[in-house]
Amino acid sequence: MPNEKIALFTIFGGTGDLAQRKLYPSLFKLYQKGYLQEHFAVIGTARRPWTDDHYHEVISDSLADLDADQKIVDQFASHFYYQSHDVTDAEHYLTLKKLSEKLDAQYGLQGNRIFYLAMAPNFFGTIAQHLRSENMLTDNGFNRVIIEKPFGHDYASAEELNNQLTATFNEDQIYRIDHYLGKEMIQNISAIRFGNNIWESLWNNRYISNVQVTLSEKLGVEERAVYYDNSGALRDMVQNHILQILSLLTMDQPVEFTEQDIDVEKVKALRSIRPLKPEEVADNFVRGQYADNGDVKAYRQEDKISPDSNTDTFVAGKVMIDNFRWSGVPFYVRTGKRLADKFTRIDIVFKRPIVNIFNHDDVRANDDDATSLEPNVLTINVEPTEGFELRMNAKAVGQGFATTPVKLNYAHDSEATANSPEAYERLLHDALNGDATNFTHWQELASSWKFVDVIQQYWDEHTPEFPNYCPGSMGPDASDELLQKDGHQWVYKN
Ligand code: NAD
Repeated sequence: MPNEKIALFTIFGGTGDLAQRKLYPSLFKLYQKGYLQEHFAVIGTARRPWTDDHYHEVISDSLADLDADQKIVDQFASHFYYQSHDVTDAEHYLTLKKLSEKLDAQYGLQGNRIFYLAMAPNFFGTIAQHLRSENMLTDNGFNRVIIEKPFGHDYASAEELNNQLTATFNEDQIYRIDHYLGKEMIQNISAIRFGNNIWESLWNNRYISNVQVTLSEKLGVEERAVYYDNSGALRDMVQNHILQILSLLTMDQPVEFTEQDIDVEKVKALRSIRPLKPEEVADNFVRGQYADNGDVKAYRQEDKISPDSNTDTFVAGKVMIDNFRWSGVPFYVRTGKRLADKFTRIDIVFKRPIVNIFNHDDVRANDDDATSLEPNVLTINVEPTEGFELRMNAKAVGQGFATTPVKLNYAHDSEATANSPEAYERLLHDALNGDATNFTHWQELASSWKFVDVIQQYWDEHTPEFPNYCPGSMGPDASDELLQKDGHQWVYKN
């Protein structure tokens, strides 16, 4: 049996979508695996006047897909308590405090508290402030707060939110969720880089031509229209997930594989990103918005979206990192909705051999000039397939001496993947352990927002020609042109 974790969870937004789809199933899996046993309790709060019995039914329903033994589900649900609560009302925190103290005594929770803010971000500051003014934090155990994205709308609002949170919690008590950091293959980036000399010794501008990060979604905005229309792809995906992935790909080797040492290296990598001047934005970042194609509606025709919305549903960009390791290597990133397929992948494109001895007519090429030899590409498949691919040149079978590209392929087997924890389960487990390695720290966020703000401001001041890409494509033509003008191309094409 694993080490039991002891804590009281208070979930603000306990009736919401995130709580029901992600948090309750993840807590249940931790229960099934024995990380949570007798000494845990959960208070779900929201405005609706639910009873504990009704709450238990909701918990049970949220686990329906897991096909678990009903007796175990009922035992698990019996640890859940519902408290109707308006987060703006100070009185309600007193009731919450009493319930917390009662459950602490009843379950022997040793004053350990995890506050999960699964609510709209405009409430984060209010909740943190009340937790302090109503003395909800304990002295005898740990107090941790888990914050959902988005963390701010730009640098100024992120800083304001951070100031509100740090008035109650220290930085080491704040766990800012970026669920990409909970994904198996994102965590694998460090394993392959620092666990394999062949990669780490090539992981620099002498051997790497360019790096491509693609987070592609097939769906449109669905139920998130109101939030999304105020955000757009740049803020929703690039500022957080993509820049976090870049920091893991580009950071130097941490002294030790610990939260503090990794954070130091990630911050250094993010601070080395070359900031764009407003006049450089159009040359380096492309935005898009999907049209209709007969089968699916255009973004501007979606429910709750204004017919003249200029929100970006696609972004492609070129990021340069000004340090000794990466100078001169473009990092191309792209993400969007209504693209060809749902997947996340990272392509590391190596430089070609300097001379192609197999073809005497070929030019003596320096790095990316055309030779008939394809570049080696290491692909990290993050989802839905989890694994690696390596493209190499080999001799074509038969007479003569022609070269042909071949692929080495590794994918986690489906049984291992099915049993591997989902991002939220992993992150909740980390938070219980006091390990914030896979959460975003403030200095990382600050650097990311400063980079993204320049692009967003430039876009806000210039009207785009939208819509500009077809559903089912990989975005507007300008995204391909972004690479072509550097002599590169996307490894993944539609
Ligand atoms: P939701 O709208 O489904 O749930 C919001 C919850 O807040 C509900 O329980 C509601 O009752 C409660 N609430 C609203 N006003 C309240 C008040 N004044 N007092 C008390 N409770 C109040 O939202 P969601 O989709 O669960 O998202 C929650 C957070 O998680 C948001 O920050 C969102 O951006 C983030 N998030 C959600 C998802 C997802 O998959 N749903 C994914 C990533 C991030």
